[in-house]
Amino acid sequence: MKIQEADAKSLLVAQSLPIPGWEVAHTVPEARAAAERILAGGASAVVIKAQVLVGGRGKAGGVKLASSADEAEKVAAAILGMEIKGITVRKVLVAEAADIEREFYMSAVLDRAGRRILLMGSAEGGVEIEQVAIDHPEAIIRHHADPLLGLLDYQAREFVFEMGLGGHLKAAVAIAKGLVRTMLAYDADLVEINPLAIVRERDAAGSPLERLVCLDAKVTLDDSALPRHPELEALRDPDEEDPADREAREAGLTFIKLDGTIGCMVNGAGLAMTTMDLVKRAGGEPANFLDIGGGARADKVAAAMRIILADPKVDAILVNIFGGITRGDEVARGLIEARAVQERDVPMIVRIVGTNAAEAAGLLEQADFETASSLDDAAAKAVAASRGAAA
Ligand code: GDP
Ligand code: MN
Repeated sequence: MKIQEADAKSLLVAQSLPIPGWEVAHTVPEARAAAERILAGGASAVVIKAQVLVGGRGKAGGVKLASSADEAEKVAAAILGMEIKGITVRKVLVAEAADIEREFYMSAVLDRAGRRILLMGSAEGGVEIEQVAIDHPEAIIRHHADPLLGLLDYQAREFVFEMGLGGHLKAAVAIAKGLVRTMLAYDADLVEINPLAIVRERDAAGSPLERLVCLDAKVTLDDSALPRHPELEALRDPDEEDPADREAREAGLTFIKLDGTIGCMVNGAGLAMTTMDLVKRAGGEPANFLDIGGGARADKVAAAMRIILADPKVDAILVNIFGGITRGDEVARGLIEARAVQERDVPMIVRIVGTNAAEAAGLLEQADFETASSLDDAAAKAVAASRGAAA
């Protein structure tokens, strides 16, 4: 689950990371009032940032500075309602503008292959880090945290020195350790600060000083661990959840959209993976991974069908059910129900074996469904149907 920058910052503040204060505004007057408060507090400018769950907001014009309340109002009016990568901006973050000396990148990610937390850092922050990784991968420093003890002090120091942040050793070490702590505290799979910035400030006496602060924050949470953190469910942003993902979640289906043309409806994660492999081997491309789970009833099947058909790229559907606790006839009934109400008709190949397979076959034959006897046969038929539709 992706969460908004402002929410990610709240989680990081709770782990004592240094983050300049902010307010969230949903309307232009709210944004203006926030800017007025911040400017009245002594700030010379505010930064106004679109809150959308995509990166590259800066480049898209979704991050702007303003040095007066009037200007803040104009900027907020321009950002609220704008589209960034297809998402409408409905809220903005308003904060005192930082006077940036230098931008770094620092993140912690779950390294599944390494089975531990990986810290990544770079002195080339601010810009798109993906490009840095491609153009000069050596500019990205990597260290694994200890799987049992977390990030040890000496590891953090090594990491920070290699990043070129030795001048802010203490603060940078605290931030690196804080990122790992945040990963563990919330079962996050990514905690990313870009930019992590050295900013120019003034102390109480007015003398200049430099400080290391997190100016942007991105946190994604492990969906499978969310039941352990019920309070984080409130951070889900329904405005930005993909409608298909939302429907799948509400129906209790495991659904992952892919780029191909063959919709797959399967029960069990392993069988779903196998089905996708077979579709590929037969020369096709799966449009999704979809596991209807064990014991799925007709209504769940109908929901799965709606989700698959909502993807305009889908031009053939492969249904592959191994009836254990799932009853084949229930699935067949769900398919028949779904087809009766669906708006778009695409060729569908159904293979149901196991519990109540004979009843399922009878129902499907009566309703004129195309069935397949073996999995290879089903995959080949689905690929042929998709090719026929594309031709
Ligand atoms: P992103 O583009 O979605 O990653 O949004 P960021 O919050 O990272 O902002 C993009 C860029 O805007 C940063 O790399 C900074 O260069 C700039 N920026 C963000 N906040 C401030 C700020 O407070 N002051 C200044 N001067 N620039 C900022
Ligand atoms: Mn950023």
